[in-house]
Amino acid sequence: MKKIQKIAVSEYFYSLQGEGKTMGIPAIFLRLTGCNLMCGGQGVEKDGKMRAGATWICDTIEVWMKGKTLDFETLLQQLNDEIDFVNRLKNGVHLVITGGEPLLQQDRIIALLEYLEAVYQLRPIIEVETNATFLPKEALDKRVHYWNTSPKLSNSGMAEAQRIQPQILHWFNQNPNTMFKFVLASVADFEEIQQDFLNTLLIDKSKIVLMPAADSIEQLLERNKLVADICIEHQIRMCTRMHVEIWNKLTGV
Ligand code: SF4
Repeated sequence: MKKIQKIAVSEYFYSLQGEGKTMGIPAIFLRLTGCNLMCGGQGVEKDGKMRAGATWICDTIEVWMKGKTLDFETLLQQLNDEIDFVNRLKNGVHLVITGGEPLLQQDRIIALLEYLEAVYQLRPIIEVETNATFLPKEALDKRVHYWNTSPKLSNSGMAEAQRIQPQILHWFNQNPNTMFKFVLASVADFEEIQQDFLNTLLIDKSKIVLMPAADSIEQLLERNKLVADICIEHQIRMCTRMHVEIWNKLTGV
């Protein structure tokens, strides 16, 4: 079999992890091209209009729909020149592999991580952000320290069969490195989480974190309280959105 030596990348930048269990940690984000879902409803990418009951739109569509397939040598040269990639990772900065849906390219991710090990003797602390609709391979799982999963609700405008894969959710739920992040805009969203994920025993309550749906500081302040009340009542971990607090609507930071 031909050795994989390339990967499709949409953007990369050095910042702080803005969400979840590792919020606040310095991190390099590597955003891979493509996604199997289209949150906002199929067609939203063409005219920006929400469909199929969606109440929010993926805020990275424009980025992950574009990208370049780069060979590893070229990619590493760019990453090192522009964001001092290898040195930062050797110093403990996390590598957050995100998308789109990065597991669409999981064989390429495995090959890239093997390349980093072989060429740079580098085994970084890795976080993968995924919508939890693809089963990770063992060669990837053994290198990942944090699985930051974000199963989607009906408010994404995606059909249940597209966004909920019970066996895959079960795999993630058994994995000690998994956190499930749910984004809430209303009490009804939480009721749906209870009905579809908690009551069905697909996901343990202790593994979830609730975060307000917000793409502006005004919306965040309004919804923080809603999510805090739910988390207190149901004994669930809450996380706010550090990036919106600091940079408001700016992306790629
Ligand atoms: S799964 Fe994530 S990246 Fe894909 S469309 Fe939905 S929010 Fe965007």
